[in-house]
Amino acid sequence: MRAYDLIRKKRDGGQLTPEELQYLVWGATTGGVADEQLAAFLMAVFFRGMDLRTELPAWLNAMLHSGRVLDLSAIPGRKVDKHSTGGVGDKISLALAPLVAVCGVRVPMVSGRSLGHTGGTLDKLESIPGFSVDLSIARFAELVNRLGVCLIGQTAEIAPADRKLYALRDATATIESVPLIASSILSKKLAAGIDALVLDVKVGRGAFMKTLEEARLLARTMVDLCKAVGRDCVALLTDMDAPLGSAVGNAVEVREAIDVLHGQGPSDVRELTLRLGVEMLLAGEAPGVGHDPLLARMRVETALADGGAAKRFAQLVEAQGGDPHCVEDPSRLPQPKAKREVRAGRGGVLAVLDAERIGLAAVELGAGRARKEDAVDPAAGIILHKHLGDEVRAGDVLAELHAASDSRLDAGEERLRGAATIGDTPPRRKPLVLERIA
Ligand code: URA
Repeated sequence: MRAYDLIRKKRDGGQLTPEELQYLVWGATTGGVADEQLAAFLMAVFFRGMDLRTELPAWLNAMLHSGRVLDLSAIPGRKVDKHSTGGVGDKISLALAPLVAVCGVRVPMVSGRSLGHTGGTLDKLESIPGFSVDLSIARFAELVNRLGVCLIGQTAEIAPADRKLYALRDATATIESVPLIASSILSKKLAAGIDALVLDVKVGRGAFMKTLEEARLLARTMVDLCKAVGRDCVALLTDMDAPLGSAVGNAVEVREAIDVLHGQGPSDVRELTLRLGVEMLLAGEAPGVGHDPLLARMRVETALADGGAAKRFAQLVEAQGGDPHCVEDPSRLPQPKAKREVRAGRGGVLAVLDAERIGLAAVELGAGRARKEDAVDPAAGIILHKHLGDEVRAGDVLAELHAASDSRLDAGEERLRGAATIGDTPPRRKPLVLERIA
């Protein structure tokens, strides 16, 4: 087999066989196919796509099996993970994973880091003093069995072909391809040995997918692809025009997730946690819940109200090396050296709160990373004091900025300019969950 022939075939609109696709994935994993040929193939896929019934499942299976695939079948019950396509202020996984675990569904969660304007669950967790996401696979499986939940990062053993192909896509303007995005995400998520996946596909200013049509296509592709390789999948399309909740950063988002675990917190964060929790309980056939959404909703609400989810989070934090007392006393989380308030220049109604600009301002403050190798400041971030549709008077505090220095605060404040628009009429409100795709 020659990579040249496979590139030409895809370029000319042909369909590749599973063996041909496997050969290219093997080439990406081992270096057996040259980078320029892999890059040319990715560009051909960008323009020609992949057949959803034949090519894409074969491509995904090859990517998935390019590394280690965990077998958690010895652990009883169905294992379910959640994936968000990335947003601003999206701390949902932090409360959701222990909440679902305490309701009886096991959650082996492989999470990512922040990049660009979007945050990452691993960076948020690492803001808890001592918390480690670098666990051995054996420890990961043990915690999934014992506590029902563990959160780790992608290891070198998981889907190595994706690491190579993603880097090539990043360098060749081929990230924005639905089949390549779908297979990239699923190759990493399915490697953790899950039976079902719940997707939170974000739509709007702060999301990867800016329009409902784009998000719908990605969600449909991922749900169908997941099912084609024998795993259950459901997607919620959720609004990401404005940040979720009030906190954007790392420790500040952990604190907000802890509020939700204590039955408080912003209503949108709480509601999305519950909606995704219901989907995970149904996908996991939670004991005593089965396929009944009303029972699932009662179950997750009770686990927040009775403190069960908060207790499970504290156990998880302790098991992963972190300070469990942060859950009862969040003042133990990292505190910023410098703070600044940003005030409204005029009165009116908060008409726009641009999630992408706010995410980029958080990066300037030190909470995120512009490049993969950058370090993040656990204490940096933004607390929004006003939300979409709120009435504002001139001089009201719109947001509080946290950083390690005044120069960081200057950079963050500069970036924040224009992120909030105060108008005279309230904005048209969108529902939090726009669509469900199963
Ligand atoms: N996230 C991924 O893991 N892969 C993509 O291709 C896009 C987003």
